[in-house]
Amino acid sequence: MTTILGIWAHPDDEAFVAGGFLADAVRRGDRVVCMHMTSGEGGLLDRQPCPPETLARVRQHELQDSLTHLGVEEQRFLGYPDGYLDYVPGDDVVARIYDELIEVQPDVVLSFGNDGFTGHPDHRTLSASVTTALEVWNQPEARLCHAIVSSEWKERFVPPLNEFDVFWPGYPTVCTSPDATLHLDVELLDAKVEALRAHTSQMKPFFDAYGDDFMRAMASTEHFRLPDRVGLGSRANEGMASATDLEPDQSRDALIRGSR
Ligand SMILES: [Zn+2]
Repeated sequence: MTTILGIWAHPDDEAFVAGGFLADAVRRGDRVVCMHMTSGEGGLLDRQPCPPETLARVRQHELQDSLTHLGVEEQRFLGYPDGYLDYVPGDDVVARIYDELIEVQPDVVLSFGNDGFTGHPDHRTLSASVTTALEVWNQPEARLCHAIVSSEWKERFVPPLNEFDVFWPGYPTVCTSPDATLHLDVELLDAKVEALRAHTSQMKPFFDAYGDDFMRAMASTEHFRLPDRVGLGSRANEGMASATDLEPDQSRDALIRGSR
């Protein structure tokens, strides 16, 4: 059985950037584990300020509800402060992720690309820490998979999303050659949209402003890249060529197994 470990900064990252990938993996019988560095207590509740301890509880509950829609049953929080991940000693974050790698023994680690998808400093810090932890773990068979933004997706969805300041200035960084693009079928798309909706404190403004059709369109494709791994060269992700035009099953195999 393939074990997939998604490593995220905040509740809702998992659904927003890779909900389809995760739901697809569950449907295929993979073991899927999601790990969140923070409880997202530094954000807003429906665009309004909220005491951090209250928001943490709200978002933890929302996450459990959301993961139910994706079928993900294993989740853990690492308890770092939301918004301040880059102030935590890097070795500490890397060591905690390393410990989780040892425990979970993932075949595939899924996280943000170097740009953090939205450019959020927590996301960027986490991406770098995940890469370092994998280098330390040094399991050549383990794959690292980055969720990334395509130019088409950026053009269509970033401007409206940025009405709510989703992306940091200068982000996202567009990837012109994703290794795989997942086109969600109706079942996966339904699951992902409901998973997004379950993050009510964060997502309600988007559903209210743009409606379900926009949210479904935004959620319907996911792009991934298999980065070269420092220290391991490209050995861990060898055999990858551009796979953007593959069918969903082939894309998934390309990501998980390196076959085409
Ligand atoms: Zn986030």
